[in-house]
Amino acid sequence: MSTLLAGTIVKLRVASGAVRRGARSAKNAVLDLAFPPACRLCSQLIASDRDFCQACWTALTASERQMRQGCERCGHPLGCRTQDPLNQGLDHQAAVILESQSDAEDEPSGCPQCQGETFHFHRVVAMWHYHGLVCDAVVAAKYVSQSPLADALGRRLGVVLAEQLSEDRPTLVTYVPSYFTRQWVRGGVGVRTIANAVASTLGIPSPSLLRTARQIAKQAWLDDQERLHNVLDAFQIRRRFGVLRSPDLSNQHILLVDDVFTTGATSNEVAKVLRQAGARKVTIGVVARTVRSG
Ligand SMILES: [Zn+2]
Ligand SMILES: [Zn+2]
Repeated sequence: MSTLLAGTIVKLRVASGAVRRGARSAKNAVLDLAFPPACRLCSQLIASDRDFCQACWTALTASERQMRQGCERCGHPLGCRTQDPLNQGLDHQAAVILESQSDAEDEPSGCPQCQGETFHFHRVVAMWHYHGLVCDAVVAAKYVSQSPLADALGRRLGVVLAEQLSEDRPTLVTYVPSYFTRQWVRGGVGVRTIANAVASTLGIPSPSLLRTARQIAKQAWLDDQERLHNVLDAFQIRRRFGVLRSPDLSNQHILLVDDVFTTGATSNEVAKVLRQAGARKVTIGVVARTVRSG
C-alpha cells in the first residue's frame, strides 16, 4: 500500500471518529434539552456530568473522610469517640490501634468496637456514616423507580473501594440477596444495582452468587441477639443447572456489597456461606454504616 493511500485512510478514520463524537454530543445536547439532568435526590437541575446538586453532595459525603480513617476490620470510625463529627483529630487510643493495624501482616487487628468478635469476612469498607440525608438516599435506592440513584451510589462506592483495596484487589463482586416478596414489593433489587455499578467501576464480574433460603424479618426491627437468629442459615449459594453444579469460588477474593452495615450479622452470615463454598477471602463494601457511640 502506498504511503499516500495509507495516509488518506488514516485521515478518513480520524474524520469519521470526529463525526461520530460530534453526533453523540449533539444527541446528548438534545437529550439534555428534552430531559434536563437533575439531582438524583432533590431533582434540582444540575450539570450533565454530575449525579447530585452541590448541597446534596456535601451532605452525603460529609462523613467520607472520617469513615476512610476507620477500623480496617469492622469499618467503625475510630475518631467518632472524640465527639468530633468531621474527625479533625483521632483520640490517642484510636491512633495506637491504627498504628498496630499497619504493623499487622494481613489480618487487621480491630478496634474497641470489634475486639472479641468473630468475623468470617476479612474487613469492612464503609463509605459514609448512616445518618441524615445518607439514610434517605439508602432507603430510596431500594426501589426500582430510583435505580439511577442506586447506580450513582454504586459508582461512588466503586471509586472509594478502588482506592481502599488497591493493594488487595477482589476478583468478584456479589451482593446480599433479599427475599423475593420484598423484591416484589420494591419492584427490584437496589443492592444488585449498586453491586453492578461497583463491579463495572472496578472492572470485575458481578455474578448473582446467593439466594435466600427462607423468609427473613427486617433486621431493623430486631435487637442484636434477634438479628443473629434471624439470618442464621438463611442464605445459600445459588446453584446453576439444578442441584448439579455450584460456581467454583476456590481462590476467589469476593467483594460482598450491601447498602447498610449495622451489627454485621447479615454480612457475617453471608461471608460464612461464601467461605464454606471455597472463597479465599471476603471483603464487605457498604454505602453506609451505623456508628455506635458506646
Ligand atoms: Zn440535590
Ligand atoms: Zn473494629
